Amino acid sequence: MSHIFPRHCHKKLPTVSYGDGVFLVDQNGKRYFDGSGGAAVSCLGHSDAKVTAAIKAQLDQVAFAHTGFMTSQPAEALADKLIAHAPKRLDRVYLVSGGSEAMESALKLARQYFVERSQPQRRHVIARQQSYHGNTLGVLATGGNQWRREQFSPLLIETHHISPCYAYRGQKPGESEFEYGQRVANELADKIEELGAENVMAFVAEPVVGATAGAVPPVEGYFKRVREICDQNGVLLILDEVMCGMGRTGTLFACEQDEIAPDICAVAKGLGAGYQPIGAMLCSAEIYDAVADGSGFFQHGHTYIGHPVAAAASLAVLERLIDDRVAERVVPMGQKLHAALEDTFGNHPHVGDIRGRGLFLGLELVEDRDSKQPFAPERQLAAKIKAAAFEAGLICYPMGGTIDGRTGAHILLAPPFIMEDAHIDLIVGTLQCALETALI
Ligand code: PLP
Repeated sequence: MSHIFPRHCHKKLPTVSYGDGVFLVDQNGKRYFDGSGGAAVSCLGHSDAKVTAAIKAQLDQVAFAHTGFMTSQPAEALADKLIAHAPKRLDRVYLVSGGSEAMESALKLARQYFVERSQPQRRHVIARQQSYHGNTLGVLATGGNQWRREQFSPLLIETHHISPCYAYRGQKPGESEFEYGQRVANELADKIEELGAENVMAFVAEPVVGATAGAVPPVEGYFKRVREICDQNGVLLILDEVMCGMGRTGTLFACEQDEIAPDICAVAKGLGAGYQPIGAMLCSAEIYDAVADGSGFFQHGHTYIGHPVAAAASLAVLERLIDDRVAERVVPMGQKLHAALEDTFGNHPHVGDIRGRGLFLGLELVEDRDSKQPFAPERQLAAKIKAAAFEAGLICYPMGGTIDGRTGAHILLAPPFIMEDAHIDLIVGTLQCALETALI
């Protein structure tokens, strides 16, 4: 009997034995193509020699030193490298152990910034429906996904949710994409006015929405308008790039493609590429200075912040992505995969939308293409596709709940950047069989 407390209590899972490039291999030697990089984590695949060598070298030096006492060379070098490649407004890095911690740190820093600036009444957070920002209670409250929130709702702090930028379902007939984007961005202005600008602390959003909506990119102009509204009202813009950041969409930071910079940004997943658990919160000099010149102490912290081994792994990941130019594979490979998905599923009666940026792609599945009628939750379609694909040796990331947190189904693809052309047929072909099996 296993003493592990698994996520799905009654599911018997294979045991991973080793990683081989884009494949995971189980105890029986069965190979699985990691088509979602776990959950958009494994951007370098599973056997990157440079990253594992960096980890081993760091372990030979020192494994851990608490940041209350000492900084470390890999943590300093990682912060320097991140800032050298980050959007201009970002200037300081706070290293944590994952995405939820990065987002919790972001919210607490935003709050402390306004306290330091003698605006303690600024406390409201505005976020979007169909969003996910992590599973700890603070950021679970920020996320708008009803299914994830429901049973914990008595424990969640009040957060205000506006419409997402989700053109497939939100754009009205006769409305251009640009007009649609401006309309939903203006919901932010309305909400700020309703709450009183002087009481609003931050707006939180994923540039390209991952787990709750299946790689939904914003329409052109949406984030520029959001940035403008935040600036006009003194509200901080916090971008959650935990899933879509670190090259996944074709630029190191996804927001670069929207030509804006946030005040605070969270990254994780691809930052450590799965080799070590690590996340980071980046913030502007203005925010850092408010704390540094004020109380001088960020009232936050976790035992493993700035962990030297995690930082060394992450630094090696960034060297692979940037210096070895692995991240440059994302745009051309993403275009090829996107085109192959269009070829195979473009006219499929149950594939309503194929979308995404770079190697962050999603398929939304519908009962009916014309009416966009979503699948009922009882169909468990996404879970069935995941199971059929897994059986056939493809890992893909399923999710229901594109509409209300339950109804609807989508499949997310986020393969390693090192994938080759030959893997495209494997992904698309296996997905096609899995979809037909799941539809029976
Ligand atoms: N934010 C986003 C956008 C995510 O997709 C996730 C995880 O899927 C998180 C935050 C939470 O990250 P973690 O699971 O590392 O705590």
